Parts: sequence; C-alpha cells; structure tokens
Amino acid sequence: MNNSNQYSAPAQAERLKQFMTQLALLYPEVSAELRHGEPMSQHTTFRVGGPAALYWNPSDIDTLAQIMQLAAQAGIPVTLLGQGSNALVEDGGLPGLTIQLNENLAKLNCLSPAEAGSWLEQQRPGSAAHSIRYDDAVIYVLAQSGCRLSQLAEFAAANSLSGLEFACGIPGSIGGAVFMNAGAYGYSLGDFITASRYIDSRPPCGLNCSVGEEHEFSYRHSLYEDNGGAVVEVLFCLQKGDQAQIRARMADYTARREASQPLEFPSAGSVFRRPVGYFAGKLISDAGLRGCRIGGAEVSQKHAGFIINVDHATADDVKALIRHIRETVYQLNGVDLQPEVRILGAPLVPDEGANNRESGSHRLPANWSVRRSAN
Ligand SMILES: Cc1cc2nc3c(=O)[nH]c(=O)nc-3n(C[C@H](O)[C@H](O)[C@H](O)COP(=O)(O)OP(=O)(O)OC[C@H]3O[C@@H](n4cnc5c(N)ncnc54)[C@H](O)[C@@H]3O)c2cc1C
Repeated sequence: MNNSNQYSAPAQAERLKQFMTQLALLYPEVSAELRHGEPMSQHTTFRVGGPAALYWNPSDIDTLAQIMQLAAQAGIPVTLLGQGSNALVEDGGLPGLTIQLNENLAKLNCLSPAEAGSWLEQQRPGSAAHSIRYDDAVIYVLAQSGCRLSQLAEFAAANSLSGLEFACGIPGSIGGAVFMNAGAYGYSLGDFITASRYIDSRPPCGLNCSVGEEHEFSYRHSLYEDNGGAVVEVLFCLQKGDQAQIRARMADYTARREASQPLEFPSAGSVFRRPVGYFAGKLISDAGLRGCRIGGAEVSQKHAGFIINVDHATADDVKALIRHIRETVYQLNGVDLQPEVRILGAPLVPDEGANNRESGSHRLPANWSVRRSAN
C-alpha cells in the first residue's frame, strides 16, 4: 500500500496539497483532526521513526472508507498502523497519509450465535449457515480493529470466554494482529476468527467481508498482507469457560513473558520470523551476538531474538544491526533470517538496506561500528 518509491518529492508534495484542499472542502471535521509532521517515534513501541507527513486517528468506519477513497483517487500513499508494535518506521518518516487505528475505533460486543449469524448475513449474504456455530457453548465477540489485544483478552476473560488468553501480553491492536496473524504459545489469532470486515485499498475503497479460509492464515501471514485492505471489524468465535481458569492461564502467560522478554526496553518484539527447523533467538545467541550494539540499538541479553532501543536508536541503527545479525548468522549457519518486523516509510538516505523480503548476502555500511558487550 505504501509505495513511496513511485513518487518523486515534488509530485508527492503537489498531490498532498491537492488532497488537503479537497479534504478541507469535503470533510472539514477530518481536515481539522489531521496532524502534520507527527513524529512516529511517539506511535511505535520501538520509539523510533521520523515524521508522518499527514497523520489521522479515525473514529468511524464509514468516514475512514471515504477518506481512503479520496486518498487513493488523489494518488497519495496510505500507511496503516495499529499500536506500532511490529513496525520499524524509517528515519525519513512516512510519506502521504498515515492512519492509526486505536482506542477511537475499539468497540467490543458479545453476540449470541443467532446475533452473529444475522450480523454475518448482512455483510455476506448466504455465508452464516456454513460459518456460524449454532452451539450453546459458543459466544461470538465482535471487535473493532483499533482495540488492543490486551483489552480484547481482558474483555473475553471478564465474560468467561476462553480462547484468547494467549494474546493478553501481545502489545498490538486487533487490526495489526489480524494482518500479522499474531500468535504465541501454540495459538494464533486466526484460529479464533470467523469473519473480518475490511476496506479495499483500491478505489472505490468499498467495505468487504472475508470469511473463514478466505483469510489465508498461516504462520505470521494473512490475506491482508497481500491485498493491503484496512481491517476494521473482526468476529471472534470463543468458548464459554471457567473465569478462574481463564485468568490463571493469562497470569501464567504473563509471568512467562516477564521472565523471558526485555519488557522494560522499547522494542518491536521478536525481530525475525522463526526459520523452519530453528529458533531465531538461539541462532543469534549461538553466534555470540547477545549484547551486540550498533548506535542506540542492541541485541537483548535477556532474549536474543529482540533488538532493544537502549539509547535513542535511529531506524538506521536498527537496520544496520538487523543486517549484521543476518550476515553473521548466515555465515555461521547458512540460515537467512527473515525480518518479521515491518519496515515502513522512506530512509533519510536511500539504501539497499534490509527489507522484509530481502535475501542473500547482507553487507554493513563501512562506517558502522559494532560493539560487543562485555558480558
Ligand atoms: C514486547 C513485544 C512482544 C511481542 N510479542 C509478540 C508475540 O508473542 N506474538 C506475535 O505475533 N507478535 C508479538 N509482538 C509483535 C506485535 O505486537 C504483533 O505483531 C502485533 O500483532 C502487531 O500489531 P500492531 O497493531 O502493533 O501492528 P503495527 O505494528 O501497527 O502494524 C503491523 C503491520 O500491520 C499493518 N496493520 C496495522 N493495522 C492494520 C489494520 N487495521 N488493517 C490492515 N493492516 C494493518 C501495518 O500496516 C503493518 O504492516 C510483540 C511485540 C512486542 C513489542
């Protein structure tokens, strides 16, 4: 969706100007809510990233669809963000319009199977009969995608609904977690999703609904990675359960995270996807890279799969460390680690740097100094 390289700076500036003029005329209330040059370091858990040219938090799905249509027609790139907990925003920031879905779009509702069925019939006539479980042991939760996973898990627990305990410590939004098919402890979000509504990224940016296998969920992947749609609402299928047991499982997962992850530092969680047959953290640790530091970015001593921001790291610091890790692990094991973290936006200085699908050899810029920690 964010295809910034296709836009030269002057052409982009002109498009942005036209877009803002149209927005002020057609949607003055949205125009008033837009922020200009918003620092993305304030909206990502890495605490890294340059400014978004235009930044907006929508609070209404229909208006969001209209604004996405206007942006698409004006030819300006749109970047979607949830909690920014799997995002590395470049130091050059984000061109075009950045739309962050957060607590302004975070309603949660419990639905009986009959209610879920009629909701789904409105979105996708004919699909409820084969997608909804009309079962007394089941309750559906309809969630707007700006809601945090921790709030969703807490809501489920408060209503004695089981399934989403694993998600209580993942610091993302529902939209970002559907996009990534976030998971932990053997579960993935996709295991509990019956349907999701999304706004098409292409004009006329209509509202659509994906059902069941159409989501193409697999390890840290969903359909939305390919089609660029903006997930706005998700229907989860949960089991009625015992609240004390649900809360005990959540407490156990939280304790395991606190014991194994450097939660006291800004990060984006595990930086790399799990390579088939290996664990990224173990490969990095075995390569002697625990504590390895470039600029303000460091491989965590506590969990070698995490890069942490220890001292005002830039996106360039993090990318250089990613490249160094990949190069070192590749030379030692022949395993080409693939970043899980999404690199968004434009670098300050164009580079051939790490991107999400890069493979092969990875060279460090000559001027980077790599420091290994003493312990
Ligand atoms: C301490 C820590 C622990 C973590 N533990 C885990 C873990 O156990 N398991 C795990 O899977 N992940 C983990 N993560 C990573 C991260 O929390 C998840 O990937 C999460 O799902 C990302 O959600 P987000 O809202 O922050 O997405 P963002 O980082 O905001 O965005 C990620 C991607 O999703 C896209 N996106 C965001 N919102 C939408 C939307 N509404 N519609 C369409 N696309 C959208 C963005 O464009 C971007 O490409 C961890 C991160 C941290 C910091």
